[in-house]
Amino acid sequence: MAELTAQEVKRAGLEAGLDGVGIANIERLENAPPQMQLANIFPECKSVIVTLRRIPRGVYRGIEEGTHWSNYTFYGYNRLNSLFRPLGTYRLACLIEDHGWEAVPIYPGVPEAQPTREPVRTGQVGADVFPAIRIAAIAAGLGECGWSKVFLTKRFGPRQRLGMILTDAELQPDPLVEPGSICSRCMACVRECRGHAIPHISEGKTVRIQIEDKVYEWADVDMGKCCLTHHGMNKEVSPFLARDFPGLKLNVAEQEMSEEEAYKLSYTVAGGTWRKTDEFPTGNLVDYYKTMLSSTGYYAVCGAGGCIRACMMSLEKSGRIEATYNEPFRKRPAWKLDYQGQVQTEADAE
Ligand code: SF4
Ligand code: SF4
Repeated sequence: MAELTAQEVKRAGLEAGLDGVGIANIERLENAPPQMQLANIFPECKSVIVTLRRIPRGVYRGIEEGTHWSNYTFYGYNRLNSLFRPLGTYRLACLIEDHGWEAVPIYPGVPEAQPTREPVRTGQVGADVFPAIRIAAIAAGLGECGWSKVFLTKRFGPRQRLGMILTDAELQPDPLVEPGSICSRCMACVRECRGHAIPHISEGKTVRIQIEDKVYEWADVDMGKCCLTHHGMNKEVSPFLARDFPGLKLNVAEQEMSEEEAYKLSYTVAGGTWRKTDEFPTGNLVDYYKTMLSSTGYYAVCGAGGCIRACMMSLEKSGRIEATYNEPFRKRPAWKLDYQGQVQTEADAE
């Protein structure tokens, strides 16, 4: 059987439609907690291949203008994560197996949200083991977590989704990215996060990890506030919630929910129905959320105003990333709603 090299894996990944492939040796990830240990999924794993597919910049245009939301859920989130990127990952896994090595494709879930079950064999962890995909991507040399916790690459800045393959093939690992070489600590993500979820650097709330001799550090993001905003329980980002719950005054900046609590609330509202009345004739609690959930199985509302859009604009301007465009992304002043859904003008903000 033909020898499989790291170069061949990368070439095959690009040919399969991926926009990037990075490789870590398993030792770089051996300090993960047991429930996230890749070796607990595939004990013979020698190499961790992280796959990447870009989010086109134009996916954010509609939300940036405040006129079109649904393509973000489809092309920037759900189908990108569940179809476009996995397709390349699947093809790459098949190529590896054609060389006689086992390839375990992994769909990255939310590790914190997975309940663990009793082990099915004594002496091992229970189901399900879920890896931290961003940490694997750092270990595979693809980039670093920005201050916002979003994964940044030299090529696309914050615009990509990630997947993973574990294999028993021993492949040459990529060099690690120097910490701080992509994220400039500009704090644009903090300023423009309408979920008030990203602490400022002056607050000193951080997460630190070490891989080999390199220490990576980013903000300890409030995932409850982020989840409420991402899933539309924040009128600062959602004209849909404002329309269907006109009297609701929920200030996300004041919430102290866990991520799980935030999911519970937002998905219950998004999937919910109530009797049809003249006031709310469709019977859906929030019409847009219910429609997106029914058609796509997911819905995303914030449009990552701070952690992706503001970050992308900052990194494009600074020249720290390779993806450049003929025109700047922001062409008009950003729209702004307050927590009651009222349109804010520059005069209101003064
Ligand atoms: S906006 Fe991007 S580059 Fe600036 S601090 Fe946040 S993550 Fe880093
Ligand atoms: S998704 Fe929205 S709320 Fe969450 S961190 Fe990014 S900008 Fe903030």
